[in-house]
Amino acid sequence: MNKTLDWIGELEGLLPAGRVVTAEAEVDRLSKDFYWYSPVLKRQLQDKRGDAAVQAKSVEEVRQVIRFAYCNGIPLTLRGAGTGNYGQCIPLQGGILLDLGGMDRVLEITSEGVAICEAGARLGVIENTARKAGWELRCYPSTYQKASVGGFLAGGSGGIGSITHGVLRDNGTVRHIRLMTMEAEPREVMLEGKDVLKALHAWGTTGVMLEVGLALAPRVDWGQMAVSFGGMEACVNHAEAVALDGAWQKRLVTCFEWPIPQWFTPLQKWVVPGQALAFFEVADSQLEAFGKAAEAAGGKVVYRAPHQEPRRGAQLSDYTWNHTTLWALKGDPTLTYLQCGFEPGQFREQMRMLKERFRDEFLLHLEFLKVEGVVRPGALPVVRFTTEERLQEMIDYCGTIGVGVANPHINHLEGSGRWREDDAKRVAKREYDPQGLLNPGKMSQYTPLKTEPIPA
Ligand SMILES: Cc1cc2nc3c(=O)[nH]c(=O)nc-3n(C[C@H](O)[C@H](O)[C@H](O)COP(=O)(O)OP(=O)(O)OC[C@H]3O[C@@H](n4cnc5c(N)ncnc54)[C@H](O)[C@@H]3O)c2cc1C
Repeated sequence: MNKTLDWIGELEGLLPAGRVVTAEAEVDRLSKDFYWYSPVLKRQLQDKRGDAAVQAKSVEEVRQVIRFAYCNGIPLTLRGAGTGNYGQCIPLQGGILLDLGGMDRVLEITSEGVAICEAGARLGVIENTARKAGWELRCYPSTYQKASVGGFLAGGSGGIGSITHGVLRDNGTVRHIRLMTMEAEPREVMLEGKDVLKALHAWGTTGVMLEVGLALAPRVDWGQMAVSFGGMEACVNHAEAVALDGAWQKRLVTCFEWPIPQWFTPLQKWVVPGQALAFFEVADSQLEAFGKAAEAAGGKVVYRAPHQEPRRGAQLSDYTWNHTTLWALKGDPTLTYLQCGFEPGQFREQMRMLKERFRDEFLLHLEFLKVEGVVRPGALPVVRFTTEERLQEMIDYCGTIGVGVANPHINHLEGSGRWREDDAKRVAKREYDPQGLLNPGKMSQYTPLKTEPIPA
């Protein structure tokens, strides 16, 4: 049925006026994210789009859309804010693009420090609301101003704060997810405990998140500091020492090899050409002592900003995590990136081998984080793109020296490096989206149940 698009008028009739978007440019915009970070995905995905978009405002509207899509066998792809960086919300088989950005209320900050929010709530709004109540997000992506909490849970992994509180799947940070199933009579399912893994980083293939509960951390006033080092080795040594030292209260520990800092255009007034650079967020009360420790380790403090509430102006975190790639791409469009996980005890040797083999094609950008309680150097290296074969050679080489790659140049879950061995997501899909209509193609090994569509 979706081939002829006769269904669009019928869908419009089911929903309040203005909810269904059909203007081609707008549907195209809503169908896209930052997939163009990858030259491989740019080629594969640039012509993919939904047939129509729905901008839902209530749970009942979501239910109507799901029921309609299910009964007519129409693919349904979910969108938060479209800041995903590997085409996660791009519909591969057309159909309906369901934009949840209008369901964006922060419902409650509980006295135990849990934020209960609609899935479309912006992380920046959640952070500001939590801070007013004495709490803050445990971790958030560098896109927090725009990104939705549902999109972060379904598409992201961690970010600023992960050095102390771990990634999203750790420490019970995601307390609950209320999910709507893709069935003729959609059910609301409450996922708690380990069950949240059925929907975390599942790219919206296992159900529609309606509401989430996020455990928060007590609020801290954060100062920012940038420290320049003569070489990457000294920079990494100091960053690692900070990352491992529990006495420093911190939210961000980042290192960049030169020439990455040259692409941070607004920061050039203090970036030192030729030097490695480290960015930190540490407790404001520790900022002075932190600066002294950095200088004692051979660094030069080139930028320092005390805590400000509300935050004003650019933040150092706007240049970290995957924002680094964005600045680099603005400066040189032939660049792209990888997402690597080094082994804590071996990362110096692994970095040395990568640099020896690929030299200036592979530029180091490290983000220290905690995963399952262990501090690790994660990396989002900026790499030069010449051919797909050369990019694959880099990925393969990482594998041979024990560096894990969550491949951001692949558009299905199984190939993206975060597929879970316990198969929780495929089992959940069978349970919550038996016909495989949610974001079809993204869980590439799922075979839909052979049931006839139910007449509307
Ligand atoms: C510059 C830049 C920096 C970034 N930095 C980080 C970072 O620091 N850490 C990090 O983890 N990621 C990062 N990302 C990736 C991305 O920003 C995050 O994953 C972000 O949280 C996505 O949120 P979103 O609302 O934009 O999601 P979208 O891009 O809209 O969607 C992401 C995925 O979630 C699904 N989805 C959306 N809403 C729902 C819902 N309600 N229910 C079920 N599925 C849903 C979509 O179908 C899609 O598969 C970055 C990306 C960019 C471009």
